[in-house]
Amino acid sequence: MDSTTPRQPGKPVTGAPEGGSGYRIACVALLGAAALVGLYAALTLAGVLENRCWLEATTGRPCIACGCTRDFALLLSGRAPRWNPESGLFFALACAEILWRVVGTAVRRMPRAAIEADVAVHVVLIGWLLSKSLARIAGA
Ligand SMILES: [Zn+2]
Repeated sequence: MDSTTPRQPGKPVTGAPEGGSGYRIACVALLGAAALVGLYAALTLAGVLENRCWLEATTGRPCIACGCTRDFALLLSGRAPRWNPESGLFFALACAEILWRVVGTAVRRMPRAAIEADVAVHVVLIGWLLSKSLARIAGA
C-alpha cells in the first residue's frame, strides 16, 4: 500500500497481524503464572510452605489479598469465604482471567479490539487495586 491508497476501515494501517503470536505467548505466560500461584497456594494450605504477607509483617496491616488463599480454598470446596470480604469478587475476577487466557491461547488471531479491551480492563483493574492497596497502607 502506498501513501495514495485510501485506508480501508477496520484494517490495520500497516497490515500488521491483529493478535498474532505475541498475544498468545502472553496468554500462555499468564496461564503459567496462574498455575504457579495455584501451586504456591496449595503448598501453603498443605503447610509445606509458610504463607506470610510481606505487607502485614512490615506494617501490621493486612493487604487487600490477605485471607484470599484460605477463602479461595473455601470457595473451591463450595463454602462461603470468611477471611477477606472481597474474596468472592477476587475469585470471580481470577476465574474470568483464567478463562480469558484460555480463550486467548486457543484463538489463532485475536481481534485487535479484543486485545485493546483486554488492556483497558487491566489498566482499570490495576489502578483500582493500587488505590485500594494504598488506602489500606494508609489505614483508610
Ligand atoms: Zn496480605
